[in-house]
Amino acid sequence: MEFSTLRAKGRVYLDHNATAPLAQSVAARVPEWLEQWGNPSSIHQSGRGPKAVLRETRNRMAQMIGAGAPLELIFTSGGTEANNLALKGVFEKARMNERRRILVSSVEHPSVRRTAEYLESRGAEIAIIPVLRSGRIDLDAYERLLDENVALVSVMLANNETGNIFPVKKLAELAHSKGALFHADCVQALGKIPVNLRDLGVDLATFSGHKFYGLKGVGVLYVRRGVNLESLIHGGAQERHRLGGTENTWDIASLGEMCGFQGQIDSRAEELKRLRDHLETRALAEISGVSITGGESERLPNTSSLVIPGVDGETLLMNLDMRGFSVSTGAACSSGSPEPSPVLLAMGLARAEAQTSLRVGLGWENTQAEIDLFVDELILIVERIRSFERPVLGEANV
Ligand code: PLP
Repeated sequence: MEFSTLRAKGRVYLDHNATAPLAQSVAARVPEWLEQWGNPSSIHQSGRGPKAVLRETRNRMAQMIGAGAPLELIFTSGGTEANNLALKGVFEKARMNERRRILVSSVEHPSVRRTAEYLESRGAEIAIIPVLRSGRIDLDAYERLLDENVALVSVMLANNETGNIFPVKKLAELAHSKGALFHADCVQALGKIPVNLRDLGVDLATFSGHKFYGLKGVGVLYVRRGVNLESLIHGGAQERHRLGGTENTWDIASLGEMCGFQGQIDSRAEELKRLRDHLETRALAEISGVSITGGESERLPNTSSLVIPGVDGETLLMNLDMRGFSVSTGAACSSGSPEPSPVLLAMGLARAEAQTSLRVGLGWENTQAEIDLFVDELILIVERIRSFERPVLGEANV
């Protein structure tokens, strides 16, 4: 299947961990999906098309992520809602069994971290599993924290800033040995590496459509059959009473459409890695002092978290933006804030280092020519900033 996106001409988009540009094939089918305006819960004719969209997407997505059955999938409004539902839904049930501990890694997305903080105010005991500067999770610390009071462990499959991949299968096995449930935030992994929940052996898992070239506002929470989950939003009987509210059928359809590209994930991952390695090789060789955060550990093939000493990340980002390149200094939801990335700080980087970091997230349409243009521009801007010259701003050159 041919793949292309709506990305802006004349710009090089290198921020795919914030969001992926919309797939052309999704955009082309939106009018057709809008025609299916009926309520999927209606039993008359108008409800049948939308209901079929839900059924088909659930089937395709379950197959793509290796779920046991389509009905293990709950459609949500995105990764944030799915993470909230996982943590709050499990805790509400677990506290009846007196298990009050929740373990989360120190580098989770705010939708996990802040939900855990909220649950602490509701009586949960939260413990943080450290992630080392190398990008590896501290397994010894994890084993020390795990005991029979733990209701849930939540560790992401891949980190949004460094791309580091955590050994979820092993972590889940250890959690299960203590009778705890295991949730994995797989938002960043979807579409970048193959994800197979059967292999991973997790109880709950989160996905989001817009990180995989779909529309914004759709996500999935996988809940293994037999896992007891309290509903987060009370209302109608949608999603088997676990999330009330009429489903967002066209967003859901966009996720179903993207499942059609499943067969490309492996080969795309190889090409992403080749481009990412090319970028890093050049940056390390041609810009003095550069280091790659988490670079020595397993990573997503598309992500590079660079520390460039002596160069403020925000200044660099703005200069690159004006030259036609979209990158980020960390999580999209934190940008605009002068605070350095909590993920990098949690991994043990000093504030000064975290402030000089830049995140590059490649996507399926990036080319080597774009990467070379980007590195050429990066070298010039870094030299200029380091020599305290005012940036020369001009027309975008791509
Ligand atoms: N989890 C991770 C790891 C993410 O990177 C993000 C988005 O940045 C989310 C969850 C939230 O997903 P959504 O934007 O669909 O709410």
